[in-house]
Amino acid sequence: MVLGEKSLWEWHRPWTTPMRPRCAVFDFDGTLSLIRGGWTEIMVTMMADHLLTLPGTKETAETLHETVRHYVLGLNGKPTIYQMQRFAAEITARGGEAEHPQHYHEEYLRRLGIRIDERKARIRAGEATPDDLLVPGAREFLMTLAKAGVELTLASGTEQVFIEEESRVLGIDAFFEGRIYGPGTDPMAFTKLQVMQDLLSRHGIDAAALIGVGDGVVETQNMSGLGGLTIGVASDEQLRAGACEPWKRERLIESGAHLIIPDYQHAAELAERLVGRG
Ligand SMILES: [Mg+2]
Repeated sequence: MVLGEKSLWEWHRPWTTPMRPRCAVFDFDGTLSLIRGGWTEIMVTMMADHLLTLPGTKETAETLHETVRHYVLGLNGKPTIYQMQRFAAEITARGGEAEHPQHYHEEYLRRLGIRIDERKARIRAGEATPDDLLVPGAREFLMTLAKAGVELTLASGTEQVFIEEESRVLGIDAFFEGRIYGPGTDPMAFTKLQVMQDLLSRHGIDAAALIGVGDGVVETQNMSGLGGLTIGVASDEQLRAGACEPWKRERLIESGAHLIIPDYQHAAELAERLVGRG
């Protein structure tokens, strides 16, 4: 069966399995949460500014910014330390002396932390609601899937302790109780693919009964490769205006997404269609 068209749902590959979805794996940042919205610019600026000071750097600031953005987003979905490793390699390649990637990770978290703390404080003070920091329609989409008996799992490249806390602040933790996964003390040991594979073997189900929802290249490639329904959320983390962010959209299509959505504004209807089948 091919699901119907809806103007904001952009199908790129038909989804024809008759199987009813049993489980869904969600990415966190940019897919559900906007608490870390703007993380890309913080990371890219930190890296590009440093690379610009190195003797081996010949690019203009603008070109360099684009180069850095390209590898940062290409690694989006893996634990953050991989982006920092790549940064250290770029420093070395430009004649600089790189610190341990962990050093850069800490500096990035320090910069991002200032913004996150402001956002969490606004929620706690009642100046913003949790829904202001969710991708529009996310709560309703989760609720519709959960009510239909689809088991929801969270898998993020952001450290597990952070997404546990941030999902509580956003009031969506109950959807994922006991099923929140992210890097721990050994970040290199974590992969989203492993989370997905463990889920399949734990339930003894086929990947065709799995839905993957993400705004990053890695989870999209993983889910598409496994054979589950792959939904790419090309969310605009700054504007929340219901339109796709073009760069994300292109990368998600390339990575094998069946369906592209800008957010979940009409997705409760989509969720109903998905679970109402089979
Ligand atoms: Mg993400």
